[in-house]
Amino acid sequence: MRVLIVGAGIGGLTLGLRLHRAGIECRIYEAVPELKPLGVGINLLPHATRDLAELGLLPALERVAVTTREIAYYNRFGQFIYSDPSGRYGGYDWPQFSIHRGDLQMVLLEAFIERAGPKALITGHRCVGVDQDADGANAHFVSTTTGTPLPSYRADVVIACDGIHSAVRKQLHPGEGAPRYFGLNMWRGVTRMKPYLTGASMVRIGWAETAKLLVYPIRNNIDAEGRQLINWVCSIAQDTPILQQDWNRPGRLEDFLPAMADWSFDWLDVPAMCRAADEILEYPMMDRDPLPSWGGGRVTLLGDAAHPMIPRGANGGAQAILDCTALVKALVAHADPVAALKAYEAERLSATAKVVLRNREAPPDAILEEVYRRTGDKPFTRIEDVISEEELAALNDGYKRVAGFDHERLRAVG
Ligand SMILES: Cc1cc2nc3c(=O)[nH]c(=O)nc-3n(C[C@H](O)[C@H](O)[C@H](O)COP(=O)(O)OP(=O)(O)OC[C@H]3O[C@@H](n4cnc5c(N)ncnc54)[C@H](O)[C@@H]3O)c2cc1C
Repeated sequence: MRVLIVGAGIGGLTLGLRLHRAGIECRIYEAVPELKPLGVGINLLPHATRDLAELGLLPALERVAVTTREIAYYNRFGQFIYSDPSGRYGGYDWPQFSIHRGDLQMVLLEAFIERAGPKALITGHRCVGVDQDADGANAHFVSTTTGTPLPSYRADVVIACDGIHSAVRKQLHPGEGAPRYFGLNMWRGVTRMKPYLTGASMVRIGWAETAKLLVYPIRNNIDAEGRQLINWVCSIAQDTPILQQDWNRPGRLEDFLPAMADWSFDWLDVPAMCRAADEILEYPMMDRDPLPSWGGGRVTLLGDAAHPMIPRGANGGAQAILDCTALVKALVAHADPVAALKAYEAERLSATAKVVLRNREAPPDAILEEVYRRTGDKPFTRIEDVISEEELAALNDGYKRVAGFDHERLRAVG
C-alpha cells in the first residue's frame, strides 16, 4: 500500500506519522516551497493529545506548549461566570495544550522527517487535480513558484489534506461555491506579557454582539522576566465579512479595539494587551455545509478539506488528528483500499458533520450567549441568580459529547 498525501499542514503531517507507525509507505506533497511556522494559537483538547501521545509526541509538545489548566468564562465587565478544569487537571488521562500553530506544525514536521526521511516530503508542489482507475490514483501538480506543470505521481490512494481552500474538494464537488460566512469577523494577535490568572488559563469573555474575546498563553518563559506569549482572538458580529479569507492577512487595531475600550479588569488589561501585540491578523469566520460524501474510490478528503468548521470550539485541529487515526485504522483493517476509504468515511463523516453544526449552534461559548441574554448585557450581582451551575455544566458537557472528548468516550476507547 502506498499513500499520497496532499498538504503538509496539521492533518497531512499527522497522517504521515500515523502511516509510518503502521508501516504504510507515504509521501506528502506540499504547495509552499518552504514550511514556515505560520499562524497564531491553536488548542489541542484531550482527544487529540491522546492520539498524539500514541505517536510519541507528548514530550516534544510539552516543551513548546502551555499545558492548559482551565477554561474560564467571564462577561464583558470582567465578572466570573464558570470554569472547567482542562485535560489532566479535569481528570483526563491526557493534557490540553495551547500552542502556537507554527510550533505544532514544526514538532510534527521534525518528527516526520526524522522517522520517514527527508524524501518523504516534497515541497513547492501545488496539486491541481486528481484522477483514478481500477488500480491506482494520480495527483497532478504545478510548480508553486513558476506555475509550470510538474510530473504527476501515482499511489494506491490519494488523501487530500489541503485545507479550507482544498483544490481536490473543488474538483470532487464542483459548484459548491464560496465558504459560508457565519456573521462574525475575527482579529487575532499575539502579545508578550506577564502571565494572568493561573498562568495557564484559557478565558472566554463577553459576547460577539458587542465583542467576544478568547485569550490563552501559548509559550512560557519567553524572556528573563518570565513573560509568556499570549494569544487572543476578538470576534465581532458584522453583516459583511472581511473580504479575503487568508490566514495571514494583517488586521488593524482601530477596526475592533473600540468595542473593548473599557475592558480593563483587575486580572487582565485587554486594551493594553491588544495595543502591545507583535502582530494582528484578521479573518472572517467561515465554514461549509457538511457534504453527503467526501470522496469516492481511491481518493478522499481529510481535516479542513473535508469538514471546515468555524473556530468556536477549539476543535479544527483536533478533528483533523482524529481523522488520521480513523483512516489509518481502516487502511490496516481492509486489504482493499476502496473499502478502507469507505470505512473511514463511514466512521468520520457524520461525526465531524455534527461538530460543524454544533459549532454553529451551541459550542461551549453558548454559555456566554446565555448569560448575555439573561442579563440584558448588564453586570450581575450573583451569577447563581442568572444561571445555575447545572445549566452551565449541561451547556459545556453537551459540546464535549458531540466533539468526542467527554470523559466516558475517552475512557471507553482510550
Ligand atoms: C498558514 C496557516 C495559518 C493558520 N493559522 C491558524 C491559527 O492561527 N489558528 C487556528 O486555529 N488555525 C489556523 N490554521 C488552520 C488550522 O491549521 C486547521 O484548521 C487545522 O489544523 C486542520 O488542519 P489541516 O491540515 O486540515 O489544514 P491546514 O493546517 O490548513 O493545512 C493545509 C496544508 O495544505 C497545503 N495546501 C493547500 N493547498 C494545496 C495544494 N493545492 N497542493 C498542495 N498543498 C496544498 C497548505 O499550504 C497547508 O500546509 C492555519 C492554517 C494555515 C494554512
